[in-house]
Amino acid sequence: MRVIDRPSPNFDARTRPIDLVVLHYTGMQDAQTALARLTDAAPVAGKYPGPWQAGDVAPDAPLGKVSAHYVVAEDGAVYRLVAEEHRAWHAGASSWDGEGDVNHRAIGIEIVNGGHDFGLPEFPDAQIDAVIALLGGIMERWALKPARVVGHSDVAPDRKLDPGEKFPWKKLADAGVSIWPEPYRGPLPESDDVVAHTQQQLAVFGYDVHATGAMDGATKSALIAFQRRFRPHQIDGALDDETRKLLYGAT
Ligand SMILES: [Zn+2]
Repeated sequence: MRVIDRPSPNFDARTRPIDLVVLHYTGMQDAQTALARLTDAAPVAGKYPGPWQAGDVAPDAPLGKVSAHYVVAEDGAVYRLVAEEHRAWHAGASSWDGEGDVNHRAIGIEIVNGGHDFGLPEFPDAQIDAVIALLGGIMERWALKPARVVGHSDVAPDRKLDPGEKFPWKKLADAGVSIWPEPYRGPLPESDDVVAHTQQQLAVFGYDVHATGAMDGATKSALIAFQRRFRPHQIDGALDDETRKLLYGAT
């Protein structure tokens, strides 16, 4: 694994021990644009044009300062932007295991990929091999289990789609650096309240969902995030048997 230091000024102090890794795609034109944005101490809209902002935005309009601990390029080069001990600014408004602001306890990895705004390109093998090697080291240094590696869309399901349905989570799981649930094989239990039970399972898995018994927006968003990761061929938020069996298998 080739590591290149490209320090970012965008970080501050953690208040919690590291116990989570959040994977992202950069969603920008190319690696150099993403690296510029993630190391920019005073980003303005005119420097980063793209479909994510209105055409009439003022060029000098300030953007939020962002960063990640690592950026992994398509060729497998790994850029180190922020030391793992510090809090990088990648997840934004977020929640996992009932706790908000996951940046305090997460290591953030930005994987260079145009994402949904740029036609959802495939992730090259060299890039995924580097992500797996990087995760292996992180998990060893901080004693993290495979279930502690999640996507940005998991911790912010109402706002984020990344790393996206093309991301090869199964390949990561096969390498021991993430999970891939086996669908539950038995008959699904009869229940009067499938929605409330599903909400409990989604919350146990980590999503910010409460057992209200009603199919609310948070529940739908979490189901879509779960499917985007584990059933990428059908992402519709439906509480069907296949989704329920995967959720049983995951919890
Ligand atoms: Zn992200």
